[in-house]
Amino acid sequence: MKNKSENSGKAIKILYIEDDPDACILMRRILNKKPFRYYEAVNGLDGMRKALKEKPNLILMDIDLPDIRGDELTTKLKSMETLKDTVIIALTALNEKDAREQSLIAGCDGFIQKPVDVNEFPNQMMEFIGGKKEILKGEEREYFHGQYERSVVERLTKKVQDLELFNQRLETTSQRLREYNTTLQNVLSILSELQTVNNPDDFKRVLVDQICQHFHFERCAFLDLDPERMEIEIKYARGMTRDKWDSYKYPVTSPLLHSLFEKNPILVVRDLNKVTDSKLKSLLTSLETNQFIFAYLGTSMNDPESLSASGGSLPLFESFMPSLHDQEDLDMDIILGNLREYLANESLYRTGFIFLDNHKSNHLISSGEYRFLETLFRSASYMYQNLLLMEQLRFLFVRAEKEAITDPLTDLYNYRYFLLQLNREISRAQRHNSVFSLIMIDIDFFKNYNDTYGHQSGDLILRQIAHAMLENTRTSDIVCRYGGEEFCIICPELTKEDAKKTAEKLRQIVENLELPKIRSVEGGKLTISSGVSSFSEDGKTAYQLILNADKALYKAKENGRNRVCISGFDIP
Ligand code: GH3
Ligand code: MG
Ligand code: MG
Repeated sequence: MKNKSENSGKAIKILYIEDDPDACILMRRILNKKPFRYYEAVNGLDGMRKALKEKPNLILMDIDLPDIRGDELTTKLKSMETLKDTVIIALTALNEKDAREQSLIAGCDGFIQKPVDVNEFPNQMMEFIGGKKEILKGEEREYFHGQYERSVVERLTKKVQDLELFNQRLETTSQRLREYNTTLQNVLSILSELQTVNNPDDFKRVLVDQICQHFHFERCAFLDLDPERMEIEIKYARGMTRDKWDSYKYPVTSPLLHSLFEKNPILVVRDLNKVTDSKLKSLLTSLETNQFIFAYLGTSMNDPESLSASGGSLPLFESFMPSLHDQEDLDMDIILGNLREYLANESLYRTGFIFLDNHKSNHLISSGEYRFLETLFRSASYMYQNLLLMEQLRFLFVRAEKEAITDPLTDLYNYRYFLLQLNREISRAQRHNSVFSLIMIDIDFFKNYNDTYGHQSGDLILRQIAHAMLENTRTSDIVCRYGGEEFCIICPELTKEDAKKTAEKLRQIVENLELPKIRSVEGGKLTISSGVSSFSEDGKTAYQLILNADKALYKAKENGRNRVCISGFDIP
């Protein structure tokens, strides 16, 4: 405790913590003069800050503060080492007994009841600072000290309890976060597994297997639509027998699918009895389930145009088509035409469904899990659609490639392929110093046949003869339609004599073909004439070989038709 002489040299610092401006005005009048240096704070926090900064000799405190209770603030101030000599006096207009008890329990050194005696107040301050005015003495002091300690313990106990509760809540939240995290990891690992898949059939299997591995459903099936029969069928399933899944067929219509999925592509049914839509109910009954999730992996129902020829997806294809324009053999108009047709007609066909349920245990998924599944199905849907498109694109490319080298009437190779192969064969024979032969074939008097029976019958004959030639040559022989009623066969490794034998065999076969309506043709049969040339004795270029085979063919025609001539020899 400081004595008066110690304080007489320098100003006595008093901090008044009070939120009422009127009370501050009054106090300023009383204390803002020598020997005091007077400070104000408007709330507990402000008070604490100023107390630490100014280290006042005395703090006058309103115990009814806006941000903290006066007794709590006192406890805090009292616990600070730098303020251990500071006298704290409670000043309040509250009911005297309660306020006095509260402040003393909180550890205040003294207590003054408002209204204050303006004249006496500075003296009262000096007495408190000088230790002359001590409210608490003897037993009373001990009593309040005990009370004060108890109140601190009570408050601390309450704080600990609050913290424990908070901790429990934190534990629950972090438990839930851990679960979400696990589910999210599951979804991510399913998606990354799906990314390795490169065709729709594998996708169905992998998706079902992965869902069963990461989520605990009793049954999971991938269904898709048979577009011809308009039936949903199960393509791959877990949790049901193969017989059951093979025999499952459910007839659908396009309006039914729209009505089921247009609002949400994921349908969750928790209780069949609550389903009012009779069509949906019958679909569920067919799957023998009461609670399930059905996810639609098709194109957007709300935007049926999105994949039609006029819709948004086509420019995507056209944007990467130019890189393929370099490949001469591919007819881009055909590819794009096919693609347009496909996209316009078959968006319904591009549909898949995932079916999940727990029909035995009736265990339901949580709403958190549902949200993750929803994310999974949305992403899976895009992946599946991409795979279907890529598969279709692959199919169209293969078809276009085949079309580019095939004669559409006879299914033989066309003229373009013939030239390509002839040049390849020349290079090969040059490299290996080997031989090969070329047979040129022309149907005799074919104009007459057409004139008599019409071109459509003529076309049938062309196909039959083409088929006969294909059947009766080696697989290594390349049988082509040169144009009109003319054919050519590249015979790798065959000498001219051997090729002549082949041509002769074909001549006989055609002569003896059972052809429709042929009997009424003059002579009663249709025949062919052939000319044969060989690499390299009849030419070293495609041009020379074709020219010489043609010349031989001409000779065969000149000499009565239905015969074979070889280049460089006169008719025997
Ligand atoms: P030859 O060869 O014995 O001298 O007599 P030709 O009557 O067969 O000869 P020409 O070259 O005068 O006539 C060929 C005929 O082949 C003309 C046409 O009617 C027929 N022809 C050509 N291409 C086709 C086709 O794609 N379909 C049909 N039906 N007939 C064709
Ligand atoms: Mg001809
Ligand atoms: Mg002819």
